[in-house]
Amino acid sequence: MTAPRPLIAGNWKMFGLGPAVDEARQVAAALTARPAAARVAICAPATLVERLARAVEGCDVIVGGQDIHTEACGAFTGDISAEMLADAGGRMVILGHSERRSAYGESDALTATKAEAALRAGLEPIICVGETLAEREAGRTLEVICRQVQGSLPPALAGTAFAVAYEPIWAIGTGLTPTLDQIEASHVALRAAMARTLGEAGRSAPILYGGSVKPSNAAEILKAKEVGGALVGGASLKAADFLAIVRAAG
Ligand code: PEP
Repeated sequence: MTAPRPLIAGNWKMFGLGPAVDEARQVAAALTARPAAARVAICAPATLVERLARAVEGCDVIVGGQDIHTEACGAFTGDISAEMLADAGGRMVILGHSERRSAYGESDALTATKAEAALRAGLEPIICVGETLAEREAGRTLEVICRQVQGSLPPALAGTAFAVAYEPIWAIGTGLTPTLDQIEASHVALRAAMARTLGEAGRSAPILYGGSVKPSNAAEILKAKEVGGALVGGASLKAADFLAIVRAAG
């Protein structure tokens, strides 16, 4: 059986005005000139999704969003639905990112309902889990992330394309990364939790590592056991850095 292609997904967070579209264009052009071993996605702010989708049309770059509401439409000022994201050209969506969990109180149950909404609109969800520094120091990492997987992955994911992203909260945007042993221990535990939660489907979905991935550490992280790609924040904003991480996947 051939191994599935790794997934390298950029999370632009709340960064990027019009000129940022050019970074995506550069990524797309480079991948057209030399195709990547990995699948490549850019999860952009909602305001840029349609422009990015047009800019990379016909290229090997998937455009995604960073959040959705659970409903298809309604009186939810400021929100966008999965259907709206798909209509704008989005094909993927990040859900349950720690910044949404901490700043907006998003729970495992809400993340699971959002994952169902994503599937309803044909979006591929990337569901994030990760421990705080206090949880790691208390020796609770595996318990915390496995509980998050169990609560955030709805049964409807079985048989569909999705990914889980392991993002230790203390490693996001800090320049700190866990050791390779720590990454492997988390990913192996997550794989078992995914299989317990979803059966066979939980054995094949990629588990991305996220948290201060950069060109200088991507290759060794991507070789670690059960690491099926990366979710990249800061280093995804510049085409050259992002492409270096994409190329590190093979
Ligand atoms: C993220 O927020 O998903 C992330 C991984 O950020 P960074 O790469 O900047 O740590």
